[in-house]
Order: sequence, then C-alpha cells, then structure tokens
Amino acid sequence: MSVTATIHGMSTTSPTSTAATAAQAVARYGYVPFMLIGLNGAGIVFTAGGAQKYWLLAVLVVAITTTFLVELVIPYDTAWNRDRADSTRDRIHVAVNETLILASVAAIPLLAAIVPAPPLWPHSWPFIAQVLAAILVADLGITVVHLASHKIGVLWRFHAVHHSVTRFYGLNGQMKHPLHQTVEMAAGVAPLILIGLPVDVASVLALAVAIQLLQHSNADYRIGPAKYVLALNEGHRFHHLKWAGVGDVNFGLFTLVWDHLMRTYAYDATWRFDSTQLGMAAKPDYPTSYLRQMIYPFTHASGCSLKSLTTATTADGNAPIPPSGQGSTYRL
Ligand SMILES: [Zn+2]
Repeated sequence: MSVTATIHGMSTTSPTSTAATAAQAVARYGYVPFMLIGLNGAGIVFTAGGAQKYWLLAVLVVAITTTFLVELVIPYDTAWNRDRADSTRDRIHVAVNETLILASVAAIPLLAAIVPAPPLWPHSWPFIAQVLAAILVADLGITVVHLASHKIGVLWRFHAVHHSVTRFYGLNGQMKHPLHQTVEMAAGVAPLILIGLPVDVASVLALAVAIQLLQHSNADYRIGPAKYVLALNEGHRFHHLKWAGVGDVNFGLFTLVWDHLMRTYAYDATWRFDSTQLGMAAKPDYPTSYLRQMIYPFTHASGCSLKSLTTATTADGNAPIPPSGQGSTYRL
C-alpha cells in the first residue's frame, strides 16, 4: 500500500513505500512463474546438461528461501507467518520426507535391475516433454491415493497428520506421516518405474514435487485463470477446511485436471480463510509433537467412523460453513 503525505499542498509518496509496493507487485505476479517455470526449468536445464544432482538441491534451497521471503512480502494472513511451536516439528517432517524422496530416486536404478522394464519409456521425446508427461502421470496416482485417503479409514489415520495444520504456510506440504507419503508417492511413481522411468526424469520430478510447496504457501499470489487448472494455494485452502466432508475437494498435487474429471473440484472466489476454519473439527486436540504424530495413527484413538469421513456433518456442533454468496461453485 502506498503511503502519501501532503507537503505545501502537494501530494507526495515516500520512496520507501513506493519500493515496497513495487516489491509486492513483483512478488504477487512473479513468484509462481519464477518457481514453476524458472526453478523447474533450471532443474530441467541442469539435468539435461548432465550436471551433478546436487545442483537440484541448490535449486530446492532457492525455492524454500524464496517462499519464505515472499510470505513476508505478501502474506495472505500475517498470523500464519508466526511460529506456533510448530516450526521445528515441521522442519523435521521436511527433512525426513525429503530424505525419503531422495532415497527413492536413488533406488530407481536398483529397482530397474531387479524388475527390468519393458522398453516403453519415450526416450526420443524432448527431455522437457518426458518430465511433463511424468508429472501428469504421477499427479493422477497421487490424486487418486489422496482421495482414497479421505474415504478409507485406515488411510485417513495416516493422512490426518497433514490435515492437523491450523496455519497455512510453505512447509505444510511435507508435513505428512512418512507412511502416507510412501503410499502416495508409490502410487504416483510406480507406473512410471514399470515402464522404465529414467533417473534423470525422476530427479526433476522429485524437485517438482518439492517446489509444489507453493500449494501451501502463505503468499497471497495471483495466477489468474490458471487457478482453475494448477493445484496451487487458492484452491488447496478449500481442501484444508476442517469440517468432515467439506474439505473433500481439490485433491491434486500438480494440477486440478483429475479433480475436474472426478467432479471433486471446488472454488469460491469470495471465500476468506482464517485459522478457525483449518485443521480437523473432529479432532481439535490432535497431537502436535513430531513423535506423537508418528505414533498416533497406530492408536485406537486416531480412528474415525466412515460416516464422519463422508458426510458434511460436523463434530463440533457447528453447521458446515456454507459458501458465501449465491451462485458459488463450492460443492459440499
Ligand atoms: Zn487431504
């Protein structure tokens, strides 16, 4: 916002506020292209050029650093930038889950040796086309398992860790139980491995998964009509509404293509989110420490009835929040 002052009848704008406004505009419209095209593109260029894989880690560091900076410049909710005694726990989630993803990529040559793949992989395609095809296929498997995790009790127990968040920021994407992440990633990547996914494509796919921290970013960015196709934060916030059944929408990690086809897409441009709407209404006292989140899904207390997973009734006595305004596309 520009700050103006009147001096001798002349309206002036402070250079500092002008610079801040310009920085906000750059962040609002430049952040997503920089991340999706710039950093994924850098990963593709490095890998296609035969660079060492640690360059992909350098790209990931740039992605995380950029996200935290942009969240400071254009926060959707300033309260979501403040630690709630959860930052350390979330860093552990990120470290564990990123390590698992890296180990999975490293294991691909081993898997290929054990299970020889038929020569179906389109090696003749341009490298970028191979990466985009891999992302679309992986997105389908991940989306389907994600949806199943909301419908099948035993899967929900492990996915619920991810839904316990009450602030929406960049690190949330990796805040998952490792078992849930393993099942989700296996569904996304196994079909690709079975047809000969090359390690180089898998490496860029792993980077692209990490860069999807955009999906939970607290940055109030704009992507125009692309929000109907790309699974970014404007749509994904609806997925984190706390009432059972209400959040069963927008399951995609990369795109909303599969949600449109499965009729699980929802969006309401007038909706304004805050922490009181996030988390799980049925489990307001969900464990918050890392170790307890690892153990809790194995306990009897973590169970939910199928009814509570599939209906829009709430456990805290409130009616499911309706979409604001008439003619909303929001689907309960
Ligand atoms: Zn979910």
